[in-house]
Amino acid sequence: MTTEIHKLSLGICNCYLVKEEGLVIVDAGPPNQVSKLRMELQTLSIDPQDISLMLITHGHYDHIGSVNAVKALTNCKVAINHHEKEWLEQALRPMPPGIGIWGAVLSVLMHGMTPFMKFPASSVDISLEDKEFPLHPFGINGKVLYTPGHTSGSMSLLLETGEAFVGDLAMNGLPMRIGPGMPSVGDNRNTIKESWKLLLDSGAKWIYPAHGNPFPADVLKEAL
Ligand SMILES: [Zn+2]
Repeated sequence: MTTEIHKLSLGICNCYLVKEEGLVIVDAGPPNQVSKLRMELQTLSIDPQDISLMLITHGHYDHIGSVNAVKALTNCKVAINHHEKEWLEQALRPMPPGIGIWGAVLSVLMHGMTPFMKFPASSVDISLEDKEFPLHPFGINGKVLYTPGHTSGSMSLLLETGEAFVGDLAMNGLPMRIGPGMPSVGDNRNTIKESWKLLLDSGAKWIYPAHGNPFPADVLKEAL
């Protein structure tokens, strides 16, 4: 069986489409991205209705702004951790604190933008707990892992082949940071490192972040 991974550049967020027997989309991007998604799916000859699950790595604006529209397009189930279910259901916009000096600057800038960051709420189909969630029922050889630190409800999708889709648990490159590693904003640096360790111990070989290009998981091992 083959694994196809497609990066969907929706606004400032990399969303990913994972295709094995089933089709799963990781994150939905900021608001107003659905026509771009429709075109990207058309280019890939993928019927939106074949997507069975949308995994939301965490409930930040740039990851959930288009959930409502993507759900309408695909009819897929929406899964998010229970800590952040309300963020999606009530279209909340919590902002993380900065990690490091540049992160602190970014955090202040993002707080200033909050009044302009409006998006439609969405219903949630699967409220994920703080533990593993298997993806075999969705035709994917992999699982969702509980990887807090950037936010308290951050989740990562790990394929059996070692690709890990981590949302903002790690970032790569400008404007968020220089090179791959620690996200510039987040709740807790130590918790982030514990989640990196869980991913590495679970067999992660490549990290697919929401901001920046994929990079080898060894980078995280060296930064533990
Ligand atoms: Zn985030």
